[in-house]
Amino acid sequence: MEFRYFMPAELYFGEDAVLKNKDIFKAIGSKALIVTGRSSAKKNGSYDDVTQALSETGVEYLLFDEVEENPSLETIEKAADIGKANQVDFVIGVGGGSPMDAAKAIAVFIKNPEINTDNIFSGKELESIPVVAVATTSGTGSEVTQYSIVTSNIEKTKKNLGQIVFPKAAFLDYKYTYDLPYDITVNTALDAFTHLVEGFLSSKSTTISELYAEKGFELFKDCFERLLDKELDREFRSNIMLASALAGMLISQSGTSLPHGMGYPLTYYKGLPHGLANSVLTMEYLKSFKDKTKIEKMLDLLQLDNLADLEGIFKKLIDVRVEITEEEIMEYAKNFLSNKDKLKNHPEEVQLEDIVQIYSRSLCGEVL
Ligand code: NAP
Ligand code: FE
Repeated sequence: MEFRYFMPAELYFGEDAVLKNKDIFKAIGSKALIVTGRSSAKKNGSYDDVTQALSETGVEYLLFDEVEENPSLETIEKAADIGKANQVDFVIGVGGGSPMDAAKAIAVFIKNPEINTDNIFSGKELESIPVVAVATTSGTGSEVTQYSIVTSNIEKTKKNLGQIVFPKAAFLDYKYTYDLPYDITVNTALDAFTHLVEGFLSSKSTTISELYAEKGFELFKDCFERLLDKELDREFRSNIMLASALAGMLISQSGTSLPHGMGYPLTYYKGLPHGLANSVLTMEYLKSFKDKTKIEKMLDLLQLDNLADLEGIFKKLIDVRVEITEEEIMEYAKNFLSNKDKLKNHPEEVQLEDIVQIYSRSLCGEVL
């Protein structure tokens, strides 16, 4: 057995985590750029808690509240210019994966003035100014991962920024998620679930990362029932946030694989929310495994008898209709095969026709 484990984010989980631990901000910097989406942070209490914590500890701040879903490099550059002009020394991402991922990329751009949207993917290792993450969805786990998934309109795709930016501190207070609409709750929960699945089945999974998956699946057993019954009470909100963070810790070690890589064009070209784009592909991905030993273990942890039972849950939770042509599927499949990182994480060899099959069975219910 041989592995490395590295997850340096300091995690604060629980109600009022931000205000109870407000001194953390002061220890990290003296002037913050707060990065949020357009409106939810101001409505769910997270923005108020963060600004109160900063005011009470004498940390200056300014706000950038223009992050769109699946943040673009253009938006990231715009925010970074504001951060540079105002000489901020750390970035606080408040929101779902989009603002948290944007905050990480902005922190890289601020630290490296020579970096812009044209040269960010040059492969050079870059440092960042510190990042704090305050999660308001339970799905991406971005608060505990090093990844920043951005939209490149030049390359017409979503992709990992390719830098390692773990937040210095991560706050997980499930009370921010009480009013998360049902559809976003489902989509983000399924994102966390696909992280557990892909991380657990990844060729990079290790004993330690698997411990996270095992606890995550155990939590999901109950979370699936609550989602199906629409019983989204405090206990559910707490459990799903914990499952999402565990899933984030898992993929920080093992990465994601086929559904995540294959889902990017479904978001970019067809507008599917991230969690939905992965989960619509998950069942066919699972069925495509030749060796089902680990899948059996996963089903045991979920206390399900077989894949058909899991598929039954997915069918009740998601209903995706995508207009897609044979040519589009072929193009997505070919592009996906050039994503060597995602392929490396898949333990079995796959060919173009396997990827085409997963897309067409998932989206058209048949083999094209
Ligand atoms: P999101 O794109 O951050 O937000 C989706 C929607 O939910 C937005 O309209 C947002 O509104 C709203 N929202 C957020 N929190 C809310 C709350 N508490 N109550 C009500 N509405 C709320 O969604 P996400 O699924 O969390 O993040 C997806 C992004 O994360 C994708 O770009 C994906 O690629 C990335 N991701 C990253 C990682 C990683 O490891 N870094 C892993 C998986 C996915 P506002 O815009 O007004 O805030
Ligand atoms: Fe994801």
